[in-house]
Amino acid sequence: MVTDGVVPPAGEGGLLAVHAHPDDETLSTGALLATWAAAGRPVTVVTCTRGEQGEVIGSRLAHLEGDGPALAAHREGELADALEALGVGEHTFLDALRAPPAAGGRTRYADSGMAWAGVARAAAAEHLPDGAFVGVDVDAAAGDLARLIRRRRPDVVVGYEPGGGYGHPDHVQAHRVMQRALDLAQLDVTGTARTGDEPWRVPVVLWSVLPVEELRVGLAAMSSFAAPGLRLPDPAGPVPACAVPGAEVDVRVDVRPVASAVVGAMRAHATQIQAVRVVDEVARTPGAGTAAIDPAGLVLGSRALSDGVLQPVLAAEAYRYAHGWQPRPVAWPAGVTAVRWPA
Ligand SMILES: [Zn+2]
Repeated sequence: MVTDGVVPPAGEGGLLAVHAHPDDETLSTGALLATWAAAGRPVTVVTCTRGEQGEVIGSRLAHLEGDGPALAAHREGELADALEALGVGEHTFLDALRAPPAAGGRTRYADSGMAWAGVARAAAAEHLPDGAFVGVDVDAAAGDLARLIRRRRPDVVVGYEPGGGYGHPDHVQAHRVMQRALDLAQLDVTGTARTGDEPWRVPVVLWSVLPVEELRVGLAAMSSFAAPGLRLPDPAGPVPACAVPGAEVDVRVDVRPVASAVVGAMRAHATQIQAVRVVDEVARTPGAGTAAIDPAGLVLGSRALSDGVLQPVLAAEAYRYAHGWQPRPVAWPAGVTAVRWPA
């Protein structure tokens, strides 16, 4: 069931992350995962699809684009390298949690693909592939995830807000499956529970967000990272669904102590993430003015996806408590700060 790593002991302050594609764990929760792992606490990452509809950066591996099985296999390798860089001990694909059908053959959840619906907004692709994750029965997938949650008994589960970060249909579906799984995991199904499978109410559920004020500072700073073949974002342009006022951020993670792990994980996803640079590297470039890059210290560096538009890597990751899920106290590892804790 579990693909690699040491199975974390249950109920020891673990973190469980639910992501749509390989690379999302790094892009939206890399510092949280690395910080948790560095503290010696159990970390489990669940990935819903293998990202086989993704575009491929660069000419060397361009032949993988459009070849679903080949790209899926390659991205599994990139994901394994990224998880190693982050120190994550356990990973599974969501469909690997399915009970195998009696007749053999395993259900695979396929990347649903996407189309751009404007800057920072994704929409459904015109044609859905067979087995598209967006069409998967939410209760069935959530039931599988709920069983894993019961066995791991994590302190914290992290995923996307209802908009799926930026609207990708698989991210929205990953949000639905996660929320349903959290509900199912805490249901007391009397008589069916067995050892290690008792109901578990997760104390804290986090949604990954971007504080919009810091995002705009970061977007403006991207001019210092300009390079051939890359485009600059519009600092005043549209922002993704996960952008929220900074005052609504509940939990922050300092990226700097784990920056090398996060940068290493980004570089592991080479078909998906390019132009990974940190402020220090850019500052050493002849002619670069360090103070001008980021006077407030909010920006760690840059990265770009296949669209070639530079995006900031902020010096802090931000999260909010899932709406409708009353958090209960947990012990945060050093580097994670609950800036708001409900009474
Ligand atoms: Zn994704």
